[in-house]
Amino acid sequence: MTTRVSCPTCGESVEWSERSPFRPFCSERCKLIDLGAWVDEQHRIPGEPVPQDPPDHDH
Ligand SMILES: [Zn+2]
Repeated sequence: MTTRVSCPTCGESVEWSERSPFRPFCSERCKLIDLGAWVDEQHRIPGEPVPQDPPDHDH
């Protein structure tokens, strides 16, 4: 007998066991979506420069 829950993001039935490492989410993607990662994706503008520290080539 297996307990099943619904993925909070997509409603997919998720087995509540070691086989579902992202439970109660069905997948890592749904977990990230629920955490708000989708906001970053939606607002990303293609070609927009991403602030980054210049790589250090001096060793
Ligand atoms: Zn899901």
